[in-house]
Amino acid sequence: MGSSGIAVIGARSATVGNSTVRRLLPARRRRTVGAWCFADHYGPDSVDGGLGMQVPPHPHIGLQTVTWLFAGRVLHNDSIDNEQVIEPGQLNLMTAGRGISHAERSPLDHGQWLHGLQLWVALPDRARWMAPAFEHYATLPVAGAGPFTVTVFAGSFGDLTSPATVHSELVGAQIDAPRGGAGSLLVQPDHEHALWVTDGQARLDGVALVSGRLVYLPPGRDRLALSTDHDTRFVLIGGKPSTEDILMWWNFVGRTPDELAAAATDWPTSDRFGTVFGDSFSGVPAPVFDPRRLVVPR
Ligand code: MN
Repeated sequence: MGSSGIAVIGARSATVGNSTVRRLLPARRRRTVGAWCFADHYGPDSVDGGLGMQVPPHPHIGLQTVTWLFAGRVLHNDSIDNEQVIEPGQLNLMTAGRGISHAERSPLDHGQWLHGLQLWVALPDRARWMAPAFEHYATLPVAGAGPFTVTVFAGSFGDLTSPATVHSELVGAQIDAPRGGAGSLLVQPDHEHALWVTDGQARLDGVALVSGRLVYLPPGRDRLALSTDHDTRFVLIGGKPSTEDILMWWNFVGRTPDELAAAATDWPTSDRFGTVFGDSFSGVPAPVFDPRRLVVPR
């Protein structure tokens, strides 16, 4: 970490269903960014003539999943009877609360390319036992800022606020800029942020931004000075640093090892996680609970 406080974190490779993804969060040196606790970036992958994404039914607690696509189509099915195809520029937000299960699969008509994000937001203590919920938004607020076009899919950025329900102060946005674009984006100085490039190449304070590298920015800065070397798409996430001691294990976010172990015991045999509508697969078994594999954010 230099004097600016910027930290560059390389993605690691992870397997989700039948896909290999770039896992940007949690990282060894950076567990959370605001309430954001998980970030996978996948593709662009050619899925022409193939099955595409196949993530069979699995459970979640204590978090919200944010599905955001740059190319392709994904079909969401969950245990509270939602069935929703998502396309680029749209948002699927699933709030796990005390328990839900879902599957994400490429529909038969899925196009040639698949490229997108799976992000998780940790629910704060006051919201984490709520009933599960699902929201879909076909359009999100978009605004220009100098050479940048900002689409806010979660939380607020400047005057723009996503209609999606969130439970803490945060931002999740896609930023597009043409080659040779240079300018500053104003951000909340009491928030920490992370920024990465999904397509193209850019620079922030002289730090090269390329796909597969996340740049962490601690609180205390009010702008991001960005310049692009190609047509570039960024993702920005941020929020107030978490003050809660969250624990993560497998698909669960909680506060104690016992809560996480209980969720693993409850899946898939109890009715806590329901049954995923329209999916005949019996579900991904939980790995053996091992407290040594807990991800402790701080
Ligand atoms: Mn999931």
